[in-house]
Amino acid sequence: MRISVIAFFAAIFVFSACGCGPTPTPPATATPVPRIFDGKHAHETYVVGQMNFGARPAGSKALRETGDYILAQLKESKVKTETQEFTFRNVPVRNIVGKLAEGRGPVIILGAHYDTRLKADQDKTNPDQPVLGANDAASGVAVLLELARVLDPAKLKNEVWLAFFDAEDNGDLSGCVIAPQPPCDPRAWHWSVGAEYLAENLKITPSAVIIADMIGDADQNIYFEHNSDATLQKDLWAIAARLGYTRQFIAEYKWSMDDDHTPFVQRGIRAVDLIDFDYPYWHTTQDTLDKVSGASLERVGRVLQTWLESK
Ligand SMILES: [Zn+2]
Repeated sequence: MRISVIAFFAAIFVFSACGCGPTPTPPATATPVPRIFDGKHAHETYVVGQMNFGARPAGSKALRETGDYILAQLKESKVKTETQEFTFRNVPVRNIVGKLAEGRGPVIILGAHYDTRLKADQDKTNPDQPVLGANDAASGVAVLLELARVLDPAKLKNEVWLAFFDAEDNGDLSGCVIAPQPPCDPRAWHWSVGAEYLAENLKITPSAVIIADMIGDADQNIYFEHNSDATLQKDLWAIAARLGYTRQFIAEYKWSMDDDHTPFVQRGIRAVDLIDFDYPYWHTTQDTLDKVSGASLERVGRVLQTWLESK
């Protein structure tokens, strides 16, 4: 033990003589979140997060919970939120809007519906079951939520709204199927009830509206859509080509869609429907998680992010 006593005093001497001491290490700087669209994160967090609520038709408890989930995710991404609530034929409807870079410039709206179809009426064996909606429409919502996470407001030259539309997907179903409580309304519902309400009540004129619907199919084929704005469509497909996505963003016309872009097109607003309608599981019980891929979400997300940040 002796030797250690001597060493102890020697150590004290050295320590006090140099006047130094333990040097405080600088606080570790937090690694910033890479602000680039991550398809894997969009798939594993946001598509799965929505699918955990089960089928999510307009007016259901599951859809209300999905809306609350979307609001919570937007808040976590520090995006300001607003809601728009109304009743359509006795069914409560809620649109959710996240707003980035308010006041920065003309408003751009990116939209996706978050409800799922009440009946899988394209399903030959289970037409009365609900659609689970991994692609239609958890995929579009996941793209918007991932954009909320990664978009850098400092890089935006426009105010950007991320609009989550309710009640898109019960078109052509009888009101008595959707809300059977007497006296039920037997008239058929139309598509895009939520988007129409938002378009009807706009106090500004957006410079562009882009809808993302059914864009998550692992076998992705997105064509020009006939009712969409031709110039804006070409701009988006040119970005996709630069990013190496020519096999998935096919610069040819194929489908004419009645979708959430329709109410904006009808009001003379420049709008595009990004949709992959070559999806064999559309409005069937087979629209499940295994059909959607993170790589497909990432292509759409990166095209939109590049377009927004390069304007
Ligand atoms: Zn649908």
